[in-house]
Amino acid sequence: MTTEPNSAESSLIDGFGRTIRYLRVSVTDRCDLRCRYCMAENMTFLPRSQIASLDELAIITERFIARGVDKVRLSGGEPLVRRDVIDLVQRLGRHVGSGLKELTMTTNGTRLAGYAGLLAGAGMRRINVSMDTRDPDKFRFITRHGDVAQVLNGIKAATETGLRVKINMVALKDFNEHEIGDMLAWCVGEGHDLTLIETMPLGDVEEDRTDRFMPLTVVKEMIEARFALSRDLNGTGGPARYWRVDGSDTRLGLISPLTANFCDGCNRVRLTTEGKLYTCLGHDDQRDLRAALREGGTAGLDAAIESALVTKPRRHDFRIERDGAPAIARHMSVTGG
Ligand code: SAM
Ligand code: SF4
Repeated sequence: MTTEPNSAESSLIDGFGRTIRYLRVSVTDRCDLRCRYCMAENMTFLPRSQIASLDELAIITERFIARGVDKVRLSGGEPLVRRDVIDLVQRLGRHVGSGLKELTMTTNGTRLAGYAGLLAGAGMRRINVSMDTRDPDKFRFITRHGDVAQVLNGIKAATETGLRVKINMVALKDFNEHEIGDMLAWCVGEGHDLTLIETMPLGDVEEDRTDRFMPLTVVKEMIEARFALSRDLNGTGGPARYWRVDGSDTRLGLISPLTANFCDGCNRVRLTTEGKLYTCLGHDDQRDLRAALREGGTAGLDAAIESALVTKPRRHDFRIERDGAPAIARHMSVTGG
């Protein structure tokens, strides 16, 4: 079963008049790393029987494209640990240029060296790679066992195939706060973009995030002491606010859900690896789109999507000062960061 893009389809508008154009798909909740702010060391992952097939994820995603979504990001968990993920990338890549403006991915980069050529060949132009530090010992600490050399190799391979790389770095107090300037200088030298992220209270990670919370308002002042920045208003409709590093190709993005709420312009929804639709990262409401598809085909799927959008919340309700307890029990890896 496929759902072909059709410009006559009505677009997706939520109860607050926001048009939905961006779908993030978590293709797996599993990961080969255990970043301390993201996962507990001993995570329980979904049983395989609960995971939607790649065909089901593709059908649902194609329905969103038919209804006006023009940007799709594959995420996870770590998207490149799902076997055959490249089949999904290639299938969705066929919509780039006809309905879809951009197909992209957020990855931890550990397997990127082996996949970069395939991703570029399937129509990806840009990719986000998460790397909180370039220091091998600190990287091993924050990921609980990762090897930053693999990530750096992946970034190199991606650049060589022509993929534009954006580094995602979660700003963490007493961990990487004094490396942020050097990371930005490195990105300028390599021609990458950099996005800094405030740690969000999602899922139990067996640690207290309050201790590590670093407001990006403070980080930005530190950066401006070293770099000249100009505001770049060509946003992606996403939560990041952007600046250009003067005299370079590098864009700096700041994602500050705690210190600057970004919900008024929200244009995104999230599909989990079980085929459930979350209309807000910060709320628990969801619709089971896979069940709707199985029971009612395309019409059932459309009805479920529309009823979910009517109840998309106005804004998230993250606060960091809850004695370290997560605001939302679900981990970011379930809904795709
Ligand atoms: N595994 C891939 C990766 O790490 O890029 C994709 C999934 S990961 C959940 C996506 C992004 O979310 C990463 O940049 C990660 O640093 C970020 N992230 C995970 N948990 C977070 C949290 N609690 N607060 C803020 N960012 C988080
Ligand atoms: Fe895995 Fe990405 Fe979460 Fe790190 S941030 S544990 S790489 S899903």
